[in-house]
Amino acid sequence: MGMNTLRRYYHRHPSVCCQQIIIHELKDHVNSIDPNIEFTIEEPGEDGGVPFLDTYCVINDGSIDTRVYRKPTHTDLYLNWDSHHPLSAKISVVNTLFYRAEIVCSNQLALSQEHAHLREVLTINGYPPWAIQKGINLIRRRPSRQGNTDKPKKEFNGYIVVPYVHGFSEKYKRILENAGVRVYFKGVNTLKSQLVSPKDKDPKEKKANCIYGISCGEVACSAKYIGESGRTLEERIKDHTSQASSALHQHMTVTGHPIPTVMDDNIQVITTESNIAKRRIIEAMYIKVNDPSMNRNVGKSEIPDIYDNVLKTKGGLQLNDSFRHIPSRKNRRHCDSSMDLTAVSDN
Ligand SMILES: [Zn+2]
Repeated sequence: MGMNTLRRYYHRHPSVCCQQIIIHELKDHVNSIDPNIEFTIEEPGEDGGVPFLDTYCVINDGSIDTRVYRKPTHTDLYLNWDSHHPLSAKISVVNTLFYRAEIVCSNQLALSQEHAHLREVLTINGYPPWAIQKGINLIRRRPSRQGNTDKPKKEFNGYIVVPYVHGFSEKYKRILENAGVRVYFKGVNTLKSQLVSPKDKDPKEKKANCIYGISCGEVACSAKYIGESGRTLEERIKDHTSQASSALHQHMTVTGHPIPTVMDDNIQVITTESNIAKRRIIEAMYIKVNDPSMNRNVGKSEIPDIYDNVLKTKGGLQLNDSFRHIPSRKNRRHCDSSMDLTAVSDN
């Protein structure tokens, strides 16, 4: 029997098929076709049921009873109530679990057992009773399969994506959404962003999309330059040292100070940003705060003076002679003074 015939036969007559074909022979046959694809057989449990995805199916007098299935290795760990996540994300965990119970469980007994299980494990995950109840209540407000809801969808004039800050962001979101601006949260400072760095770091000269600083190599000279480029630092520095129109080139020609090469310590990547518009704004911010003497203008973006207070008093953008960030007073308390502070932003 060819595979297509077998498939058609199975689809039309599954029960006949199961009775008539010896299942293990069928399994051996389909597994002999391609060594890279291996089928396995799930034997029915003592109650005659088999798990299928997250549903446990038991055939009872010709009908199928279903309930929620969890693998024996399931840990019942969900987003913890104390996690630094928006309230809506936590309520959504409750809502999703109870909604699944409702659509998967085929009878009242299975549904109430699943409800009891969910209440217990959500409580262990730190969820207060009111949050569990809120998640359940929201099931009624879910859009139907056809996409109809009782409430008309709220129209927004625009949207904004902001970092989530516990205890503040929910109020902020409420105010902005009442004013017609949709607010989305993003997580910052996640464990993943702190710990995972799958790629090897590029050496300084191969870094592209950077905002970089150059300080004159002559000890007695304090001249500095801050720039940005989408190309690698190596290529950019070559431009600076070879083009007569470059501010750096002119400084070296007029003063006779040493011409730097990309490997010198007095050339540093301050930070990187692949979005060109953002990179030019960051460049302009660094130029505004540090006022490097070799720069002939304020950068390709101009930061209005109204931002002076924010940019200059925080201390986050000030660079020392070797283009390391000067820690703000707050950071200084937490950082060892020998720590390389650029490591935080320079990746
Ligand atoms: Zn100089």
